[in-house]
Amino acid sequence: MPPIGLGEQQMTNRVNSQVETNVSKHDCGMMTEICNFCQALYWRNELNSSNKYTKCCRDGKVRLPNLAEAPDLLKELLTNNSLEARNYQQHIRSKSTSWQ
Ligand SMILES: [Zn+2]
Repeated sequence: MPPIGLGEQQMTNRVNSQVETNVSKHDCGMMTEICNFCQALYWRNELNSSNKYTKCCRDGKVRLPNLAEAPDLLKELLTNNSLEARNYQQHIRSKSTSWQ
């Protein structure tokens, strides 16, 4: 939200002045590290001060129940190759947000 009283041209100038054009690419590499408890993937530099990866399940202390199976209609729409199912799969995000 622009500050009150800031015109469109001033806003454009402000945005343009914040754009950095000479930025070097940052590469974290591949996620090669794996939690021994839940198999979550990590980048090497995500080690905590104890040299562990614990942001996923805190060394296996957090365990989530398996997800419930989807209702038949949803399962069909997610897995079938019918025209209706393909339409659903292509627009799943907008359909999901419209139900909220
Ligand atoms: Zn874990």
